[in-house]
Amino acid sequence: MADADHDVVVIGSGAGGGAAAWALCEQGLRVLLLEAGPAYVPETDYRLHRSDWETARFPDKLPPADRQTLAPLQALEARHDALRSWNHVRGRVVPGDTRRSVGYSHVVGLGGSTLHFAGEAHRMHPEAMRMASRFGVAADWPVDYATLEPYYTRIERLIGVAGSADDTSRPRSAPYPLPPHPRSYASQRLAAGAEALGLGFVPNPLAALSKPYDGRPGCNYCAGCLRGCPRRDKGSVDVTFVRRARESGRCEIRTECQVTRLVAGDDDRIRAIVTRSTDGLEREERVRSVVLAAGAVETPRLLLLSTAPGSPDGIANDSGQVGRHFMETLSWYTSGLHPEPLGSHRGLPSDSICWDFNAPDAIDGVVGGCRFSPGTAEADLLGPVSHATRVVRGFGRAHQEGVRDALGRVLTVASIGESLPGPKSFVDLDPVARDAAGNAKARIHSHLDDAELRRLTFMARTCREILAAAGVEEVFEEAGTYDLFFSTHVFGTCRMGTDPETSVVDAFGRSHRFRNLFVADASVFPSSGGGESPSLTIEALALRTAEHLAARARRRELDAPA
Ligand SMILES: Cc1cc2nc3c(=O)[nH]c(=O)nc-3n(C[C@H](O)[C@H](O)[C@H](O)COP(=O)(O)OP(=O)(O)OC[C@H]3O[C@@H](n4cnc5c(N)ncnc54)[C@H](O)[C@@H]3O)c2cc1C
Ligand code: SF4
Repeated sequence: MADADHDVVVIGSGAGGGAAAWALCEQGLRVLLLEAGPAYVPETDYRLHRSDWETARFPDKLPPADRQTLAPLQALEARHDALRSWNHVRGRVVPGDTRRSVGYSHVVGLGGSTLHFAGEAHRMHPEAMRMASRFGVAADWPVDYATLEPYYTRIERLIGVAGSADDTSRPRSAPYPLPPHPRSYASQRLAAGAEALGLGFVPNPLAALSKPYDGRPGCNYCAGCLRGCPRRDKGSVDVTFVRRARESGRCEIRTECQVTRLVAGDDDRIRAIVTRSTDGLEREERVRSVVLAAGAVETPRLLLLSTAPGSPDGIANDSGQVGRHFMETLSWYTSGLHPEPLGSHRGLPSDSICWDFNAPDAIDGVVGGCRFSPGTAEADLLGPVSHATRVVRGFGRAHQEGVRDALGRVLTVASIGESLPGPKSFVDLDPVARDAAGNAKARIHSHLDDAELRRLTFMARTCREILAAAGVEEVFEEAGTYDLFFSTHVFGTCRMGTDPETSVVDAFGRSHRFRNLFVADASVFPSSGGGESPSLTIEALALRTAEHLAARARRRELDAPA
């Protein structure tokens, strides 16, 4: 039984769950970490060393298709044709007049989506945490940057973040623990182009080791981070937080164990959880406290599935807020061929970044910021297969020579921008689709309004300008979220706030309704930020949640009344 041996059950082992599990162990609590997916062994499961490395993307052991469904997406309009995704070999990526989904990109496995992340380790822009009071959109965070700062600093040391001593993009109390990575030649060319436009590319803080650290080797600049790092130098959660939680001797880890339901007690506590193992066996286990960290799509699903007489619309959903305020990844990239060989198929992805438009008021005429970075790896333009199918037209010997000639000349500028919540973007339960356990799948509703499209238009235009200024004369591919839903960062479905009518959890991630239920993943974000990658902030919030939980547990405030 979970409650006899464990003080806390953590559901999900990604950025939020892995960090929370470690921090709870540090506080002396005994933790049971439950993960729906399997554990991966970087040296053998990842495929960068094999001849099929390019066609084998991240080696999902559980197929990603159909884990969630998407409600019908919006119609595309001729006035936004400049935002359509296209490729010079294939033409329009979405031939019809309706936005298409290629799925919510995530990993089900020990370490969660950090297993295939690029390692960007960003702090939130302080002003992006006050979107309601400053601009009348989204909601204010109930914590401010100054409160998160010590947690950021601690995590940077723990996972090993490499960054520049000259980084002034955020207030900092300590330098990065590791020096910045050398920038690839391709990245330097982009930076030179940007500079000609008056924009600055600076070293991007990355959870990838610029020298040996924490018993892990330095990066070898193979560019393959999104396929899983076989050297363990990338600071994904499995090789950092989860490893340390295990080493503490206070964390039991169960993989391939899905939680299918939370069970509310008669009081204001979660009494039990229902788990399902791969053989289909379900069992109810009593719990003392729960940290829910299944990600911004599966966390609301689990709460909505957990109906009970006292919670007819799902756990912690008394004010109907669970699943609302979904935010996705607003993104764009433009790729072209540079006349010179740049070696752009190698090097650390996104090794530099332009923050010039990151502040929420930095883009003229629209609220919400964005950032720009080199994106050749994210666009998956690293190997001969992508070059043969997307970069070089034609066939036969000329095509073969063209591929050889193009390899290393591809230059991509990528941009991610603020995604603001709106009434048409939310997560609910699919009325028809069921998973293997017979439970309703999560259904994502996504809608981009005019403000998002204005921001996206700015992002696309600037990507094109930077690329041209860097010397690219021939653009061969562009893709963006106007006609494609391909979210890599998702947020906001269990918003944190001070008012139970408009939020699900408080400033410490604790449910307004259930005193022993905490949420510690990207679902608590009240706003998305202007292109910051979210893991560092998810981890900072999770550490804070864990400390708060432990303090309350010590005071026995989470127990059932005597
Ligand atoms: C291609 C790509 C690149 C990215 N690059 C970056 C980057 O460079 N920097 C950055 O900061 N972010 C990056 N991200 C985003 C980042 O990985 C995620 O935002 C982050 O991992 C989300 O953390 P989370 O804890 O909310 O969810 P996840 O990390 O997705 O973790 C959720 C976990 O819960 C498990 N789970 C779900 N349901 C259940 C259940 N019912 N029972 C038990 N377990 C369950 C899942 O299997 C998963 O392991 C990237 C994402 C992608 C897809
Ligand atoms: S580039 Fe570095 S961090 Fe990324 S997979 Fe290769 S060795 Fe790992």
